[in-house]
Amino acid sequence: MALPTVQLDEIYRDVVLDHYKSPRGRSSLKVVDARAEGFNPLCGDEVFVELSFDGDRIEDVSVQGRGCSISMASGSMLAELLPGKTRKEAGIILNAFKAMMHGEPLPEDLDVGDLDALTGVHKFPVRIKCALLAWTTLEDAMSDSTPSDTKEN
Ligand code: ZN
Repeated sequence: MALPTVQLDEIYRDVVLDHYKSPRGRSSLKVVDARAEGFNPLCGDEVFVELSFDGDRIEDVSVQGRGCSISMASGSMLAELLPGKTRKEAGIILNAFKAMMHGEPLPEDLDVGDLDALTGVHKFPVRIKCALLAWTTLEDAMSDSTPSDTKEN
């Protein structure tokens, strides 16, 4: 399964590579209030997202997994950006990022951290799933954020 060759110099800016090589939020959380896993069969990317909450606010985020540089960099950006945000704020960023992957500009007043480095990805439809994987997994985790100590396979 060959993925289209993308214009690396356009997508893989230094900031993306930095996140890929030194991913943020890789450690498992001591307290996990929500978790989800996501898989992108097109590329083989997989991510595991863990969240802890302080009331309505995201206290801490862990993103682990393996895959291509876009998927891993996007997860690292998520882990860097979301701690301290409310669920609502996280949802706004999530929606803005999804819109960006459909070619829409980011709202100017929205702080999306390093995510804007992934802007060029929207030109490569196969790679959009890579960029969104951590975020759709986050969405799953937030929509089912009751503490759980059971593991399903
Ligand atoms: Zn990928």
